[in-house]
This record gives sequence, C-alpha cells and structure tokens, in this order.
Amino acid sequence: MPQDRPPIPAELRRAVLIEAGHRCAIPTCRQYPVEVDHIVDWAKVRCHEFDNLIALCPTCHARKTGGDIDAKSMKQYKINLGVLTGRYSDLELRLLRWLVDYVPGRNRPMLPDGMIWTVGDLLLDGMIQLGDDGRLLPSGYPDGTQQKGIRTFNAERAAERNAKFVSLTEKGRELVDRWFGAKPIDMIPK
Ligand SMILES: [Zn+2]
Repeated sequence: MPQDRPPIPAELRRAVLIEAGHRCAIPTCRQYPVEVDHIVDWAKVRCHEFDNLIALCPTCHARKTGGDIDAKSMKQYKINLGVLTGRYSDLELRLLRWLVDYVPGRNRPMLPDGMIWTVGDLLLDGMIQLGDDGRLLPSGYPDGTQQKGIRTFNAERAAERNAKFVSLTEKGRELVDRWFGAKPIDMIPK
C-alpha cells in the first residue's frame, strides 16, 4: 500500500461488504473471506468511492489483477449487484441461484403456501412461477399417459404439503444469464 494512501473509511468498507452479503461479488463465485478492492486501481483514481469498491475473494482478486476478469465486467458486476440487492432479498437471490442449477426431477424446489410472500418481488416481476412448470423427471418417460401421471403425482405431492413448486420463467432465466454474464440488467422495474 502506498504511503500516501489513506485507509478505506470503516463505514464505507462496511457498506461495500454488506452490499455483497460479505461474500465475493462475482456471482458465480460467492466465496469468503473477502477483501474490499478498487475496481479502477487506487493509483488511477486516488480516492475511495462506493461505486468503485467491490468485495472480492483472494482468487477473484488475483483473476482481476491478472486480467482474467476485465475491468468492464467488474464494473458491470458491481452495477448489477446494486440493482439486484436494491430490489430483491438475499433469500430471493439465493433462490434464483438455486433454480438455475436445478436439475429436473431432483429435490424439486417447493415453497409452502404460507411462505410465498418471501419471494413476492420475484413473483411480481415475473422472474419465477408457481405450480408445475411442465418439466418432467429426466430420462425416458416418452409415453404421454405416464408423463401426465408424473405431473399429477408431483402436483399431489405439493398439495399434500400445502406447497407450490417454484421454477424460473424465461424472463428469470434471462435475468440470471445477465447477472452471471456481467451484462446490463434492464428488466427489473425501478
Ligand atoms: Zn471470488
């Protein structure tokens, strides 16, 4: 650290860490512990500003320094983090991550009816849908009757638990693609 560089003020550092949920701000990483880093190097900007500060794990910090994650992507990750945390709760963002990795047929995500309010903004914005999304268990049920049987079985299983299946809509999938791909997110109501 250069001699003339003042430390990042504690409140500012705290705000950057809170925005990232105390995890690495690279959405596909999310490791911890993290340090607060300048997106555009301190040597160039010579100031500590919220919009130029990002929480990174040591690996992503090294990838940034090595040019593996470029400055343009890093800036977009930071902007997207602000957009997403400004609109959705940590729980909602976790659900999005979970749904994008979800393999049909395995531990199908459900929400109890009484808990649906916890993902209210995702629903309102059309990022997720409740109920059967029409996707079936993987591998070999080509017969229409059997497929219907599985759907009915799934629906009954959910109903027994007073729950609904949750899945991503096309819009929700596009949102996650943009989030993970460091592209501008323009589909969230302001
Ligand atoms: Zn990381």
